[in-house]
Amino acid sequence: MVSILGNLRCPICRETFKRQDKVVLDIINKVIHWECYYTCTERELFPIQRRMVASEDNRDV
Ligand SMILES: [Zn+2]
Repeated sequence: MVSILGNLRCPICRETFKRQDKVVLDIINKVIHWECYYTCTERELFPIQRRMVASEDNRDV
């Protein structure tokens, strides 16, 4: 699996992902910070496919 570290930015806060950040993967394969996903109210978001930690192995949490 491709690492999301350093390659992607969160579409909500525009920050890159750091190791151990909690993230969600939505059904269109966008990675978003867990916190941003749940605090974002200005836009409609896609449902979550997976929740994971942004470490090298992208493990589920
Ligand atoms: Zn974010």
